[in-house]
Amino acid sequence: MDILTDPRFSGIKKFERKVWLSSPSMHGDEQRWVDEAIQTNWVSTVGANITAAEQQMAAFLDIPYAVALASGTAALHLAVRLAGEKLYGQAPAGHGTLEGRKVFVSDMTFAATDNPVCYEGGEPVFIDTERETWNMDPAALEEAFRLYPDTRLIVLAHLYGTPCRMDEIRQIADAHQALIVEDAAESLGAVYKGRQTGTLGDLGVISFNGNKIITGSSGGMLVCRDKEDADRIRKWSTQSREAAPWYQHEELGYNYRMSNIIAGIVRGQIPYLPEHLARKQDIYERYRAGLADLPVTLNPWDEKNSLPNFWLTCLLIDPEAMAPFVRSESDQLWTSVPGKSSPGEILQALAAFGAEGRPIWKPLHLQPFYRSQGYITRSGAGRGQTNAYIAGSCSDVGADIFSRGLCLPSDHKMTEAQQDTVIEIIHRCFR
Ligand SMILES: *Cc1c(COP(=O)(O)O)cnc(C)c1O
Repeated sequence: MDILTDPRFSGIKKFERKVWLSSPSMHGDEQRWVDEAIQTNWVSTVGANITAAEQQMAAFLDIPYAVALASGTAALHLAVRLAGEKLYGQAPAGHGTLEGRKVFVSDMTFAATDNPVCYEGGEPVFIDTERETWNMDPAALEEAFRLYPDTRLIVLAHLYGTPCRMDEIRQIADAHQALIVEDAAESLGAVYKGRQTGTLGDLGVISFNGNKIITGSSGGMLVCRDKEDADRIRKWSTQSREAAPWYQHEELGYNYRMSNIIAGIVRGQIPYLPEHLARKQDIYERYRAGLADLPVTLNPWDEKNSLPNFWLTCLLIDPEAMAPFVRSESDQLWTSVPGKSSPGEILQALAAFGAEGRPIWKPLHLQPFYRSQGYITRSGAGRGQTNAYIAGSCSDVGADIFSRGLCLPSDHKMTEAQQDTVIEIIHRCFR
């Protein structure tokens, strides 16, 4: 059906300029630091922008060390590798540090959280999601340790910028002498019990990818408390050169350092992080007010103990307001029913008017590549569920949120008028 000629949407005009999900917002300072790097010829993976960006991020997060790297994924890889080495010792040439080891990983997250576990030869076991934060369910984690008591590594993500219930997870980790790698790629600036996400695990990771809350166009950082860890990561990221007059190598190396040009953009963005945080929260609150009369909820958080960075506002349709909606591995079908809607219909309507939404990140245990890995829910070993939404049939929380949820346009530069139109389009979907 053509949305633009559907009478339910009559009177709504297409956006003149596209409304993005989450795009970069440059402020001008970025240009200055990039220009300075070029004018002073510091165009490599050494330079003042890198040092400044590292110091400023460490200060903002209130953690001693931040190491600037090529991407959040690179930071996760080195974090997971270092955790593996701490737990199981140095891997011989040609081997990963996690070979044959199970690792407990958030199920509802971007694949970049989990891929580095596989780079190191680990076997991810996906931990189901809790409804309260859409993050790793402590009860499912507990169950996973009951089933696999030898596991020593947890890799978790703070989905869409909402902090996990870290105290509960930390307590379970400590009881099993497990390390936590914290993927804070989406949650920079989010706070749990007064502390910044990224600093709550044993090793933390942030990202400056183009769609994150601040950006360097790309880039990431590993943050940690121990100088030894920071030095190790710095060395690995620059090909693991030893202190010798020639290229001397005692361990595997990577070319993962951040460029001083990228660091110039990051350096220019850092002062605007508080402004971006405030703007993202305003967007969330405007959606909350504007959609309050519909049979939907927004992505929740633990309001007593945490404050998200509100990177993306997400919508979850109440079960009884779901119109029929099915997905295959590459396609989707739905029907329109008065008073009801579906993520497929809402995303199509938003796209037709020039606004970018996105489906909820498809849980990793449903991904064809990861389907044979373990997946644990509160009630024990789970299995990949169907892609069809059948009300009340989903026993795993991630699949249920994936079927009923979507990410709304959450761009800093979206005007209030544009956001009101997005809200109106969503209302019309339920007519
Ligand atoms: C963006 C993202 C990453 C990867 O960061 P890059 O800098 O793009 O490599 C990792 N984990 C999550 C949860 C992300 O959203």
